[in-house]
Amino acid sequence: MSDYCPVHLPTAALFPVPSRTMPVSDEIVICGLDGVLALLEHRLRFLYNEEGERDWDRFHAACGEDMPNLPLIHRLNQARQEGVAVILVTGRSATVERETRDWLARWGVGHDALWMRPSGDFNPAAKYKGALIEQHYAGRKIRRVYESAQHLDVARWCTERSIPCTLFGPNQGNGATREIFDLKRVAHACEHVTLYPFYGDDDYAWDDRAGQLAQGACLLCADDEARAEREQKAAEAKLAARERGLPPLEGSEKQVAWAEGVRLSAFSAIDKVNRWIEQNDAAAEAEDPDHWHTVKQGIRKATAWLEEQTEAKWWIDHRHGIMNSLDGGRALLSAVAEREGFF
Ligand SMILES: [Zn+2]
Repeated sequence: MSDYCPVHLPTAALFPVPSRTMPVSDEIVICGLDGVLALLEHRLRFLYNEEGERDWDRFHAACGEDMPNLPLIHRLNQARQEGVAVILVTGRSATVERETRDWLARWGVGHDALWMRPSGDFNPAAKYKGALIEQHYAGRKIRRVYESAQHLDVARWCTERSIPCTLFGPNQGNGATREIFDLKRVAHACEHVTLYPFYGDDDYAWDDRAGQLAQGACLLCADDEARAEREQKAAEAKLAARERGLPPLEGSEKQVAWAEGVRLSAFSAIDKVNRWIEQNDAAAEAEDPDHWHTVKQGIRKATAWLEEQTEAKWWIDHRHGIMNSLDGGRALLSAVAEREGFF
């Protein structure tokens, strides 16, 4: 499914690390690797593929072929020359430390420390990185954190501590060729600034795309908006459930919020089934009363069974089979009635 052609990279260092010209100060810059310094689109196929297989070992093992984010490397090396310590903190597993160090040397990434995630640590990025920074760099002035837009939790961690954080958005390129490359500064409508790497074999639409991105909110604000919308919907669904006399759901706060919406669609679909029954009642009764009674009884019992379903997890697990339509309602009620022997 991937049309990516791996670029054969030389093994010797291409870019020597520039030496420091200023004394080391107290300031540090913290920078991530995957999706930040190292552009990893070519190996996402090991995680997202038609087979639905996630092969983390191969995903990590292919890190040596990542393309470098050269404009960022240049920035870091410049900061380093000014005496700022460059600290690399990555969620990448320490099992590929050798490959990672080789890659950093090959692309001339000057750095003062490299922290890799110990194998067996599965904490979210912000928890792992935050704890590490607090443990080893407490009291140091953090000039900036460079992070992938995949890790909004890290950006939030920075915002809470008034640490400037620059997020790298997903690449704006066709992924196959990297002949030209640039970092575009996008000043978003929410007044936050994001850096987007653009690359490909021509820069024809880059300015247009950067202009479009600037009209929208940054990823962090967009995520906040989406979250507020989800919470609003969950609150509405909860209110609707209460008005309908449905029992409260059980589970974690997050599960309950999610399940309320699923349950609401299920009962809206059941309403449609009940309207359909009313409309067809007389005709169906005349045609085959026995069969029609069985159908109505099955629907009644299945509805009651669903009303008693208070486990949030049950609704979440069955969400794919729930559609807010007449057919969706009929399919759901039939499935319950058949499984529970109500027909
Ligand atoms: Zn924003």
